[in-house]
This record gives sequence, C-alpha cells and structure tokens, in this order.
Amino acid sequence: IGGKLKAVGEMGAANADATGSRIMVFVRLRPMSRKEKEAGSKTCVKIVNKKDVYLTELASENDYLRLKRVRGRHFCFDASFPDSTAQAEVYSTSTADLVEGVLQGRNGTVFCYGATGAGKTYTMLGTMDNPGVMVLAIKDLFLKVRQRSYDGNHSIQLSYLEVYNETVRDLLSPGRPLLLREDKQQGTVAAGLTQYRAYSTDEVMKLLQQGNQNRTTEPTRVNETSSRSHAILQVVVEYRYMDGTSVVTRVGKLSLIDLAGSERAIATDQRSQRSLEGANINRSLLALSSCINALVEGKRHVPYRNSKLTQLLKDSLGGSCNTVMIANISPSNLSFGETQNTLHWADRAKEIKTKV
Ligand code: ADP
Ligand code: MG
Repeated sequence: IGGKLKAVGEMGAANADATGSRIMVFVRLRPMSRKEKEAGSKTCVKIVNKKDVYLTELASENDYLRLKRVRGRHFCFDASFPDSTAQAEVYSTSTADLVEGVLQGRNGTVFCYGATGAGKTYTMLGTMDNPGVMVLAIKDLFLKVRQRSYDGNHSIQLSYLEVYNETVRDLLSPGRPLLLREDKQQGTVAAGLTQYRAYSTDEVMKLLQQGNQNRTTEPTRVNETSSRSHAILQVVVEYRYMDGTSVVTRVGKLSLIDLAGSERAIATDQRSQRSLEGANINRSLLALSSCINALVEGKRHVPYRNSKLTQLLKDSLGGSCNTVMIANISPSNLSFGETQNTLHWADRAKEIKTKV
C-alpha cells in the first residue's frame, strides 16, 4: 500500500516546543463492534508506532485483495492509540500533564471529538470497571493534592453541564435551563450551576454516571443518550497557602468535554424538531470549527459568541490554556467518511497556537 498513501502534514518533533503553545492532538481507535462485524466490515484504519494513522478506502473486496486502486491518507499525531490501548494509558499520555498544570494554577481542557459511536463517552467517562479520563483525572488530582497538602489547603469542586439544542442544563441538579453570563474573573459562567465538593473517587464516578443519565435522550430512542448533546465537566482546584503573613490563593480549572457526534445531521426530517436540533448541533460544532479556523489562521477576531458551546469554551481553547483534543474513530470501512472527516479536523487542530 505504501507508495500510494499520501502524507498529510507531518508533525515530526513539533512537540519539542517546550512552552506547550499549541493544542496536543491524539487519536483513539476503538475495537470493531459486533454490529460492525456482522455487517461485514473491513478494517480501514491502521495505527503504526503509536503515532501514524493510515486510512485506506477499500474500493471493493477484490481491489483490497489485489491492493489495487486503494486510495488512502497518512496522518501523524502527538500519539495515536490502537484499539488495544487501556484507559490508563490514554489518560497518562493525554491528560496527566494538564492535571499537574491545573495544580500550578494553569487551566487545562480536554475534548473528545468524533462521530456518534466512535468512543467519546467511553474515553471520557468509561465504565465502573474501566473508568475514563474524567474519573482518572479526578483520582489523580486527589492523589496529588493529598501528597501536597502539608503546605496549604486544597479544595476540589465539580460541575457537570450539558449543552443541548443551544440550551445549557445542569447535569448534577437537573431543572430549568441555565443562563450564561460573563464574570470578570471566571469568564463565561452558567448562572446557578451546582458546584459539588468532591471527596472521593467512587463518589465522583457515581455522580458522573448519574449526571450522564440526566443527559438528554433522543426522542425516538429512550435509554440512549442523544448524539446531539455536549457534556462539560469542570473541575476547579483552589489552593490556599501562607506566603509570609498573607494568604495566597491559586485557582486552576480543568474542563473535560464529551462533544456531540460530529456526523452531519443530513438524515433528519426537515420539518421536525429533530431537524431543529440538528441545525443547532451544527451551529455549535460549526461555531467550534470556525473558532478553530480563526485560531489556526491567527485571526484577531475569534467568533466565540456564535454558540453556547464556544462561549463556554472561550477561555479553554485559545487563551491561557493547555488544550488536548482526542479524536475518536471507528476501524470500520462503513464509517470511512466520518473517520476521514474526524482525522481532517484533528489534523487541522494541530495548527492551533495557544498562549499559556
Ligand atoms: P460515543 O460516545 O462516541 O457515541 P461510545 O463511547 O458510547 O461512543 O462508544 C460506543 C460503544 O463502543 C460503546 O458500547 C462503548 O462501550 C464501546 N467502546 C468505545 N470505545 C471503546 C474502547 N476503546 N474499548 C472497548 N469498547 C469501546
Ligand atoms: Mg456518547
């Protein structure tokens, strides 16, 4: 296949930039699902050396066997996780450094991007047996805080919210939609959002699972989370210590975001509520991609105000923030288009410069 693959943007050792002044981009491939196997899927993604991603379009079974007319592309990321990668490795490679930064008072953001079913929620929340980045990050914070508490006091507060259909809702205390307002110190905040004081990891896992059950479900598929809902977990770590005779307070914020499905909402009925939702999802994700474009091109004006999602992410994308993107993909050739789209955006996100 080698010669026929086209290299797309080599990052190489770009990471050597020690100031961490750009978005770190990771790709995670999930295992082939039973459903995909039963549908006769072929694998169209290959990850080599935990870095390179090869995407090949299989014209037909025959072409595949003869390696003919195989079109493909090559991408390279900060790290790419094959389908056998454990949750702990995804966490330690992608997010552990951000957690350390948050303890130093630097904000950090991780967001999962990809089509519905590509593994975003598994990566972020995970299961009781295999907790994901959200839970592992908080566990790590507890551990690190305990190791340091001899020289000051830490408090850890959580909030978990959803953006669905351009409406913001509290996932820890569901009720009326929340309004966004600008706060001089904290940036964009959702007014009245529950701040939950966390003490143990088990408690956090239960809380987040409950929160996830509060995510909006698809009208047609009860019990299934809507692919149109964005979930944002924010963890604020406050550290107070004595400097001589005065009390110093240092605050760091970690935002962990499970984005809505990135697939285009073309299959929706034009006249129905679902198409309205589709339009709004497009609005939030479109706004996100416009912001990414503006940041990549170094534009002065970044259109954060175009959607609720980008308003909330304002200080988590371009500003003084360490940002990580995890792009989730399926190995199946049936999802080729979505995977190509996801890899394209992930490739683009590598160019964003952030000023920490
Ligand atoms: P998304 O949130 O992107 O829509 P999910 O995280 O819900 O997708 O994943 C879809 C299904 O695939 C779930 O049943 C999930 O448990 C499974 N899955 C996703 N990623 C993995 C993985 N890395 N290992 C094992 N199972 C996974
Ligand atoms: Mg999900």
